[in-house]
Amino acid sequence: MNCRKAEKLISKQLDNRLEARESAWLEDHLQNCPACARLASDYQQLKNMTAELKVEAEPQPYFTERLLARLSSEPKPSIWAAVERLYARAIPVFLIMVTLLVGVLFLVQPAERQLSQSEMLLFQNQNPLKEMQALFEEERPENRQLKLLFAGLENMESYQRGNNER
Ligand SMILES: [Zn+2]
Repeated sequence: MNCRKAEKLISKQLDNRLEARESAWLEDHLQNCPACARLASDYQQLKNMTAELKVEAEPQPYFTERLLARLSSEPKPSIWAAVERLYARAIPVFLIMVTLLVGVLFLVQPAERQLSQSEMLLFQNQNPLKEMQALFEEERPENRQLKLLFAGLENMESYQRGNNER
């Protein structure tokens, strides 16, 4: 029979490449051949299904493309490398800022007593400066303790010296 030709024409029809003459021939064959008619309807269903899938999967190629682009760019300078570089640059900036803050503190400190109460409060509400002040104030008792310790040692030495001399 002409089923082979019909099959070819069916697949051609699915691609919308069927000429009018071929279409007429296929229509005629399908009306007389239930097997090919079923094949044609199966193919048509399959085509509709893939068409639906294509619509559903539309963002997929875009997504895969982006994913692949990202993956392929991974060994090259990635986002993380950029972030790391940013941090490397940010750390010296941070150090400079701390240095400046310390400098400002030293400049501001003698004038501090001349500030009014409200200005003092405003000044102390600035966290970095407050932290710096806390650091400085933390250092002072330590120094005091060290001085006391040294004073104690000196006293002990002089006491012992006094004892020996006696
Ligand atoms: Zn047939």
